[in-house]
Amino acid sequence: MSLRLQVGAATDVGQVRDHNEDDYLVDHDLGLIAVADGMGGHRGGEVASSAALEALRIAFVAGAPIDEAVVVANDAVYDQSVADPNLRGMGTTLTAGAFDDEGHVVLGHVGDSRAYLLRAGGLERVTTDHSLVEELIQAGELTPDEAERDPRRSMITRALGLEPGVLVDVIELDLEDGDRLLLCSDGLTTMIGEPELAERLHAEPDPASVAVELVDAANAAGGLDNITVVVIDVVDVVDDGGADARATVPSEPVARNVAPAAPAAPEEPKRRWFGLRR
Ligand code: MN
Repeated sequence: MSLRLQVGAATDVGQVRDHNEDDYLVDHDLGLIAVADGMGGHRGGEVASSAALEALRIAFVAGAPIDEAVVVANDAVYDQSVADPNLRGMGTTLTAGAFDDEGHVVLGHVGDSRAYLLRAGGLERVTTDHSLVEELIQAGELTPDEAERDPRRSMITRALGLEPGVLVDVIELDLEDGDRLLLCSDGLTTMIGEPELAERLHAEPDPASVAVELVDAANAAGGLDNITVVVIDVVDVVDDGGADARATVPSEPVARNVAPAAPAAPEEPKRRWFGLRR
């Protein structure tokens, strides 16, 4: 069996923020796909997410397994933040998948971006948020429904770039023909509930179309944060005599809105919380 990936991606600044600190990576040749949601004053968030993805890619090319590549990305962001006072304190989430052509994927995950698997119409979250509300859910102090509306829902407890080294969740999946994997930033999942997510992912067969549709839906629901969506469809291909199973549909970024050259808005208080316990 040979599986190929068809990928659609979209990112958008949303309705409220003045620039987009999310970023994503889709590299068909490497089988490497990732979403990063940066944070930090001034331009730190944008730098953190893009620097993390670049360091991840370089480490992966050099042969690092995905969890080690995420740690390399962490250290790259951290080193940059220490070296430049303007970038001090920046950080980013990172949810990254390494795919082979037999459907095996290894995810490395830090923060509150998410991966979901749509299989046979059912949607399952495969990552755990490193967030305050997730800890409160685990502790029985909040229900998942309450957590969705909790004002502390964007406070995260683990991120890349805050200190040397980071603990990386590793999740392995065996994908099958017809599976659809979603990687997304919290700007999607805080605007759209999982039932609507499942319905839209199930209804629209084209991965690029559904990526744009989900971004539009998050914007229609308020677009309070940057929104990034990567939809990965797994398609079985007949043996074509050894051609590269990954040399497939190029995935052009769509709906990548550039932040307007905004006049200096009053600095909004950072809603992120870096409550790392030592
Ligand atoms: Mn976000």
